Amino acid sequence: MFLKALWMLTLALATLVPAFAHADDPQVIEPLISHNTRLMILSPHPDDESLGAGGLIQRVLEAGGSVKVVFMTNGDGFPEGVEKEDRISRPTAKDYTRYGEERRLEALKALTTLGMKERDVIFLGFPDGGLAYLRLKFRAHPMAYRSPFTRKTRPPASEIVVPRTDYCGQDLRREIERVISDFRPDLLATTPPEDQHPDHNATYYFVKEALIQLTKKHANYKPVVLAFLIHYGQWPIGQGAGTGSRLNPPENFPDRGKQWISFTLKPEEVETKRKAILQYHTQMLVMARFLLSFSRSNELFIPED
Ligand SMILES: [Zn+2]
Repeated sequence: MFLKALWMLTLALATLVPAFAHADDPQVIEPLISHNTRLMILSPHPDDESLGAGGLIQRVLEAGGSVKVVFMTNGDGFPEGVEKEDRISRPTAKDYTRYGEERRLEALKALTTLGMKERDVIFLGFPDGGLAYLRLKFRAHPMAYRSPFTRKTRPPASEIVVPRTDYCGQDLRREIERVISDFRPDLLATTPPEDQHPDHNATYYFVKEALIQLTKKHANYKPVVLAFLIHYGQWPIGQGAGTGSRLNPPENFPDRGKQWISFTLKPEEVETKRKAILQYHTQMLVMARFLLSFSRSNELFIPED
């Protein structure tokens, strides 16, 4: 509760500062970081967490706080990626599953590069490219979604958090609820509803649903929620990609009356973040320029309610 009150005050003060000051950005996130901080990142795919919050993760760990990263999917539904990686033109279900396993290993390497322990990384194993279907169509049993890539209808047994979980929206929401409730983060980061990748905006809504359920059960539990944007048109490729220059919000982003927060990284954090991104070999193969566009001197977050 105290953290949330401090956050509201800091945010109110920050809005007194011009919308996008540069060197003197209001320090909005910094006061929330201490050895007591419990940060949870809910990432749609392996790589989004490092692109959007690789600096924040390092800062919390450096302060002695705790971090957990939860992946919705293993990124196993990416035909272009599988075709490039395996140099094949018609990947099979096995190829997709193997690709997901590879991305899972890359995520562990990236996160240990950022200073995390492997035991603090959770993979929920939901279908890459399928989260929006789970949200809009396959809500509850017995309507399980079948991944057209891996042909699976449920996460691998080793990745199931709540027993009898299938690929349906209700089960994903329940699993998210369980991982949040087990860790009790006071700072939570995920992708925003405006993110144009269907898995990314669906992740936002599932996280929000899970938080609504949790606050019904525990009225005092109100973590600070931040959103980090990944996919929005050509952004952020055009803005000095890969040069370590400053990241600015997309110009045509809808105004929700939210103040973007710029979190300035230290040069060594920028360098470590870059090294973490480079662990994603399978993704570098298909979109290196895009990934490195997030290797900047700051990270951007949108405060969510
Ligand atoms: Zn993603």
